[in-house]
Amino acid sequence: MVTTLPDPALVPPPPAALRLRLDAAALAENWRALARMSGAAATGAAVKADAYGLGAARVVPTLAAAGCRDWFVAHWSEVPDVIAHVPAGQVAVLHGPLNAADVAFALRTGVRPVLNSLEQVARWHEAGGGACHVMVDTGMNRLGLAMADLGHPLLARIDIDLVLSHLASADEDTAQNAQQLARFAQVRSALPGRRYSLANSAGIALGADYHADLTRPGIALYGGIPRRDFAGTIGQTAYPEAAVVQVRALQPGDRVGYNATFVADRPIRAGILATGYADGYLRCWSNIGAFSFRDKILPVLGRVSMDLVIVDLSAAPECGEGDWVAIDYALPAASAASGLSQYELLTLLGRRFSRSADFNAIR
Ligand SMILES: *Cc1c(COP(=O)(O)O)cnc(C)c1O
Repeated sequence: MVTTLPDPALVPPPPAALRLRLDAAALAENWRALARMSGAAATGAAVKADAYGLGAARVVPTLAAAGCRDWFVAHWSEVPDVIAHVPAGQVAVLHGPLNAADVAFALRTGVRPVLNSLEQVARWHEAGGGACHVMVDTGMNRLGLAMADLGHPLLARIDIDLVLSHLASADEDTAQNAQQLARFAQVRSALPGRRYSLANSAGIALGADYHADLTRPGIALYGGIPRRDFAGTIGQTAYPEAAVVQVRALQPGDRVGYNATFVADRPIRAGILATGYADGYLRCWSNIGAFSFRDKILPVLGRVSMDLVIVDLSAAPECGEGDWVAIDYALPAASAASGLSQYELLTLLGRRFSRSADFNAIR
């Protein structure tokens, strides 16, 4: 009898040893809290970078169900993952149309470009583009038309839905916020749009003057605390976990990991975990990071490797091979411990983390 093996490329891989759990209820609750703080303004969502690494396929439907109707991505390549779940006309591309291919894609899909320069305005106008958004720079010197461009006649000939600007330092108490707000008031009187939008997450906490018609939170949706105002209101949503792939018994004097930066001073039951800096668990966590198993703390021993981390299992003798352990990833504390920003902590988490919905229900 001849047995034919299936095409190996078609055999589904076994479940990953690395997963990123999402607390969808906390995500929806964060959006509702930001919507309440936004007062009369509508509340959108920045879902660029695959929803800050959490997975647009899970985040967008969750926020749409909560009531979100405005979505912001950076790249055109990010559009398909969002319009798979929401109407294209709700989606804005912040980087704007850099060439004819971008314009053609916007026209075919109905996604709204954010025009950032007079060149982009001309490109959109010449293509007969419909409703669009316009970004104006009010002092960050990043993307957007200059204040001096606002009188240009071309701007009167395009159909502007949303006029945006972006705050550079809303997470600080600095005079720059009020300066940008004053310039935004000038923008509003010079440029006719149907709606106006200035505030990111931190800007929402600056008060009603900053809310305009639409706020655009990102980091706070996902559990980041960019200002103290959000503590107690915003909850953690992202729970990265790794499986224990091996357990070993260390003796006093045993050296651990690359370059032996940890040496056991007592017998230690060590767990080897299936994650490392290739997954965004960077080497800065070497000897300072921690994982947990059922609330027991498991400190990192020695250097973080590319694909592996070694932890001290002493506090959790019941934890063994195949068990899931959670990375300590409460964003404000993890940021303070690592020196990485809360934004970096989320967007670093790599593609080897399974973001499947199978373990979505976390409470
Ligand atoms: C990323 C981004 C946001 C969201 O900022 P957060 O600080 O994450 O709330 C809003 N607006 C623009 C233009 C952005 O680029």
